[in-house]
Amino acid sequence: MTEPLQKGERLLRGIPVSAGICRGKILVLGKTRTAASRRQLANTEIADEVSRLEKAFVQTRHQILEVQHKVSAAMGAQEGSIFDAHLLVLEDRVLIDEIVRLISEQKVNAEFAFQTVAEKYATTLAAIDDDYLRERAADMRDVTARVLNNLLGVSEESKLCHLKEPCIIISHDLTPSDTAQLDKQNVLGFATDVGSKTSHTAIMARSLRIPAIVGLTSASEELEDGQYALLDGYNGIIIVHPTDQTLFEYGQLVRKQVTLEEKLRDAISQPAVTLDGQHVSLSANIEQAEDGDTVLACGAEGVGLFRTEYLFINRDSLPTEEEQFQAYRRVAAALKPHPVVIRTLDLGGDKFLSHLATATEMNPFLGWRAIRFCLQQRDIFRGQLRAILRASAEGNVKIMYPMISGLDEMCQANALVEEYKAELRREGAAFDEKLEIGAMIEIPSAAMIADILARKAQFFSIGTNDLIQYSLAVDRMNEKIAHLYEPTHPAILRLIKITVDAARQNKIPVSVCGEMAGDPVLVPLLLGLGVDELSAAPPVVPQIKFLVRRLKMNEARELAAFALSCESSTEILSRAQQLARQIAPSLFENKP
Ligand code: PEP
Ligand code: MG
Repeated sequence: MTEPLQKGERLLRGIPVSAGICRGKILVLGKTRTAASRRQLANTEIADEVSRLEKAFVQTRHQILEVQHKVSAAMGAQEGSIFDAHLLVLEDRVLIDEIVRLISEQKVNAEFAFQTVAEKYATTLAAIDDDYLRERAADMRDVTARVLNNLLGVSEESKLCHLKEPCIIISHDLTPSDTAQLDKQNVLGFATDVGSKTSHTAIMARSLRIPAIVGLTSASEELEDGQYALLDGYNGIIIVHPTDQTLFEYGQLVRKQVTLEEKLRDAISQPAVTLDGQHVSLSANIEQAEDGDTVLACGAEGVGLFRTEYLFINRDSLPTEEEQFQAYRRVAAALKPHPVVIRTLDLGGDKFLSHLATATEMNPFLGWRAIRFCLQQRDIFRGQLRAILRASAEGNVKIMYPMISGLDEMCQANALVEEYKAELRREGAAFDEKLEIGAMIEIPSAAMIADILARKAQFFSIGTNDLIQYSLAVDRMNEKIAHLYEPTHPAILRLIKITVDAARQNKIPVSVCGEMAGDPVLVPLLLGLGVDELSAAPPVVPQIKFLVRRLKMNEARELAAFALSCESSTEILSRAQQLARQIAPSLFENKP
């Protein structure tokens, strides 16, 4: 969405997902706009230029074969054969001869000669009234972009990893693994056309403290490389060519934020206790083994969710048991005596292993994901469980299974833990005999049978990101239906209540580790519903503590009682906002 603002500036509005304000030059990814400029060659350069062209063809051929291999493995040979047409372009002797002739006769550089000839072919093919030939024109343009990128030495991936100057990244989409690899020194912020607040890309951005906006619909088409822009991650706004007045107003907003951060800094070292004396256990969600220090610095009491997937993605092979053990032990040792809840691998959905070709699924979030994947990939699961068990010798480690949908999965996973414990005993390896095991409650069926699961678990952690997606049938990645993703929907609050009641009856604690726990508006509601613990991204932990320290439990309980009797999610949300703004107004000064 684009709207005019002050004269000369342009405003695009999306979904704010990671707080902060930045300004700088825009870099748009995913546009094959590589235009080759013409360079006149000396006679002595001609042979080198032809050989550059040949090398680029060979490199492109390798890349296409690699993509073809991956697609065939994942989707089948027929889909892979689509790339045969691309390979044929690279073998077209007539095309190659014409390019070489242009280089030698007109003495022009390889990229210019290649683009000129390839574009002539593509335009001719596209103009013919024949579907087959028009498709060949598209193949031609696809291959042209690849060859040009290789000649010019640019690729999207290398663009991302080796940014030369600070910039704001604009892209149609960024995967969680792209986001995890962002060069933090030079990425001021990013914005994507697709996505929503609880997509893993958004969660990663918050954890890296990179201001970010998603769901901008067509920003990657509308914006151009090099434009100067301001990105407001609090309100989900990009302003292109901001005027001096806008920059001044944003300067004031940044100053307010600095003042707030000073106040929050005081909260970090203080306990998370409500005004009427109830202690709230507040921990942090982490994605990397190096994040232990961040957890301590934000004032969290341990880790409530270690998303271990990021140890597995962005690499060519699986991490070994030993490598995982070192990573888990490092976090556990850094945070002792505070607990560290290590969630077993939650691959699938939007996070995949780059080296494991898994079949493309129609509904990956309903598919071969998390515990379902692990129970079938026993070697991977065994390596991880043994590594966690060994790290538990530190004394503060807990295991948590993601995506539990029924009792069987819980029992099967528990039986495997017992089997690996027995192995370790035989090997004489140390582990914590009393290590606690918990279940994530993030599928409605698990919430409905929480009383049954509670007998097999020592704690629950409610994954509201998925619980909302599955209960309301709202894809958490889809910006078009983001307005339907309502944490205050009465159905969600009832599911949380059912889970809390079952936990109470079975005398086990229940925490919330989904993004609801990091939203100051929703925290009083969760506490009022009886949630014992909260786990949120490190950057928001100080805000949550600040709010908890200004809350009275009876206010929270009243809010929850109202919510459970109310039919409308918007009314519940507005009551929750009222309370949060009343007790901690400074947390909301950057919001409209
Ligand atoms: C959740 O679903 O709420 C959760 C914490 O897990 P993830 O966001 O990693 O799916
Ligand atoms: Mg989840």
